Amino acid sequence: MTAADSPYRILLYYKFVTVDNPEALAKEHLAYCKKLGVKGRILIAPEGINGTLSGTARQTEAYMSMMRQIPLFKDMVFKIDESEKHAFQKIFVRPKKELVTFRLEEDVNPNDLTGTHLKPKEFYEKLQQEDVIVLDGRNNYEFDIGHFRGAIRPEVESTKEFPEWIRNNLQEYKDKPILTYCTGGIRCEKLSGFLLKEGFKEVYQLDGGIVTYGKDPEVQGRLFDGKCYVFDERISVPINRTDEDVIVGHCYHCGKPEDRYINCANDYCHLQHICCEECEEEHNRFCSKECEEATLARLEA
Ligand SMILES: [Zn+2]
Ligand SMILES: [Zn+2]
Repeated sequence: MTAADSPYRILLYYKFVTVDNPEALAKEHLAYCKKLGVKGRILIAPEGINGTLSGTARQTEAYMSMMRQIPLFKDMVFKIDESEKHAFQKIFVRPKKELVTFRLEEDVNPNDLTGTHLKPKEFYEKLQQEDVIVLDGRNNYEFDIGHFRGAIRPEVESTKEFPEWIRNNLQEYKDKPILTYCTGGIRCEKLSGFLLKEGFKEVYQLDGGIVTYGKDPEVQGRLFDGKCYVFDERISVPINRTDEDVIVGHCYHCGKPEDRYINCANDYCHLQHICCEECEEEHNRFCSKECEEATLARLEA
C-alpha cells in the first residue's frame, strides 16, 4: 500500500522538554483533538509529551502543523504509518507525573543524561560487533512476538520494574558496550540514562526505535526477528522487510510458531495471548475453557 492510496495515518511521537502546566495544556490539547477528529492516547507531563494517534491524512497533517506552531514542540519528529482505518476507538489526553514510569528515587532527565543515539545503520553495525550486550527495553510480552536477534529478554511486565531487574540481573555487564532499543525510542531515552547512572560505561540507544529501524531503506529491519508489538488496535506491525523474516512467538494453545496476539473473548478476562487461526476457531477466541464456560453461562442466565 502506498502513502497516496491509504486514507488514514498513524502518528507516533515524543519529546522531553519542560512543560510548566501539563493540566492546562492537556485540556487545551484534548479540545483541539476532539474538534479535529483524531483518536489516540497522548500523555503530557512536566518532563514532556508522548503521543500516538490516528486520523485521516488531512486530520493528521493539520495536527502536525498545529504542533509545529507550539514553540516547545516546533522540532517534533513524527513517525508516520499508513493505515486503512483508525487505530484507536477514542481520544485520551492525560496529564501525568512522568512519561516513562520508572519511579526512581532520583529521576533521570534525558536532556541531561542519556545513551548515545545510533541511527538504524549504526545500530545494525554495532549489533554485529562481538562482545556487545543487546537489551530489549520493553516488557516481556512485547519481546515474545519479536525482538533483535540475540537480545536479552527482560523479565518485566511494566517499565517501572526495570530498575530493580537491572540491578539484580545485569551487573556483570557494566564494562561491556550495551545497546538498548524500544518501540519508538522514548523508553530508551530514560532507560539508557538510568544505565549510565548505574555505572554502565558504554550505553547506546536506537534512535527512533524499532519502527524507524523497520522503515530504514538500507537496513530494512535486518536482524529483527518477528513482529513489533504496538499499543493500538493493530497489536503488531512487520519490521523485517528482507527474506530472513521469521516467526518467533508460539501459540498459547498448541505451541505452533505464531506471532499474532488476540484478546480473550471473555469480557471479564480479555487476556491478550498469542493464538493461531485454527486455535482461535477451535476455542472460539477464548483463552481457556473456564473463560468459554463462564461466558456461555452468563449468556444463558
Ligand atoms: Zn494454535
Ligand atoms: Zn480468558
